Amino acid sequence: MLQSQLFTKTIKEDPKDETNVGTRLLIRAGFIEKVAAGIYAMLPLGFKVLANIENVIAGEMENLGAQRIQMTALIPKTNWEKTGRWKAFDVLYKVSGKGSEEYGLGATHEEEVTPLAQKHTLSYRDFPFAVYQIQTKFRDELRAKSGLLRTREFLMKDLYSFHVDAADCDKYYDRVKESYQSIFKTVGLAQTTFLTLASGGTVSKFSHEFQTLTEAGEDLIYHCGNCGLAINREIKQDFPKCPECGSEDFDEKKTVEVGNIFKLGTKYSDAFGFCAQGADGNRIPVLMNCYGIGLPRLMGTAAEVLHDDFGLIWPDSIAPYSIHLIGLASGNDSKSNVKESAQKLYRDLQNKGLTVLYDDREGLSAGEKFKDSDLIGIPNRLVVSKKTLEKNSVELKKRAAKEATLVGLDKILDYFKV
Ligand SMILES: [Zn+2]
Repeated sequence: MLQSQLFTKTIKEDPKDETNVGTRLLIRAGFIEKVAAGIYAMLPLGFKVLANIENVIAGEMENLGAQRIQMTALIPKTNWEKTGRWKAFDVLYKVSGKGSEEYGLGATHEEEVTPLAQKHTLSYRDFPFAVYQIQTKFRDELRAKSGLLRTREFLMKDLYSFHVDAADCDKYYDRVKESYQSIFKTVGLAQTTFLTLASGGTVSKFSHEFQTLTEAGEDLIYHCGNCGLAINREIKQDFPKCPECGSEDFDEKKTVEVGNIFKLGTKYSDAFGFCAQGADGNRIPVLMNCYGIGLPRLMGTAAEVLHDDFGLIWPDSIAPYSIHLIGLASGNDSKSNVKESAQKLYRDLQNKGLTVLYDDREGLSAGEKFKDSDLIGIPNRLVVSKKTLEKNSVELKKRAAKEATLVGLDKILDYFKV
């Protein structure tokens, strides 16, 4: 991508109405645009990050054997009434058609996935199975003041698994738990994300949340200094001592919830009369689990955790581009071949399959280009200038590193792995 063609521009001023540094940086660097409170559009750079996060998650879902589907945003009122959530779900957006029809905008999809699964699975032999989607959710949040960390419209991965055997249900739940840990590791949040006990509702003693440490978080967790177990605020009152090791040594930490997994038992299958026929002809209740990750929130959390005073610091796995190539040709060095060399390198890197943002803009100082590069936060910065070419080299600087190094032009392609 030629940076001269990128329609978004970086912004010098911090947006005044954003409390979180991560969201402020994403706006300033041109990743996202605030449309209204709790509603954000994805711009080209942000969309690339979101697509990379989607790939990471979808890969893990495929490993779990989950089948991808796409459900609807408009879910009929009658579905919500079956579970009592037309009245009880306080964040549900309700819309009417021109006739008498009414819908809830999908805030979560148990009300749609349960009758959908029911229609296709009659026998116990059809179980277990899991389906997932990556689709827009709508939630009428009263407070939407935390930037990308709490929004009213957002892309979410929701996975639902269906079982007729309790042991199998538990086993799959544990597999998803591991899969989630792998996702948070891949996106650079392993060190700061804790598996956290949360209330389990009526079905099981606990559910699990994945909570990432950040001062911008709206949640609190209690982290056991002895064994590392974390417990969320809602259930901490039940545990003066750590349920794992008995220690009373808890640290209170501010966090944001980046994922949750939940055993639903037969709550939704009961509401829709969803049973499987057993080998003996008897009806077997269907057990369900649900597992969610909000993609923009994960992006916002990564921005919140992975940045410095100068800008974002994307990990390779979700960065909008692998390489930020900067050409420093000045008008009066027409005899040097900075522009040609940078263009050749741009083509060579792309031909190798690497993703490159090439700052080919003219009339900007080196300082201005470096500032933008730090703000955008692409993991590798390559600079081609008159000075580097005198040494047949290109300057390489990792975004997270302090020092730059010179790498020979004949070696730079081998330096990057695809
Ligand atoms: Zn403990």
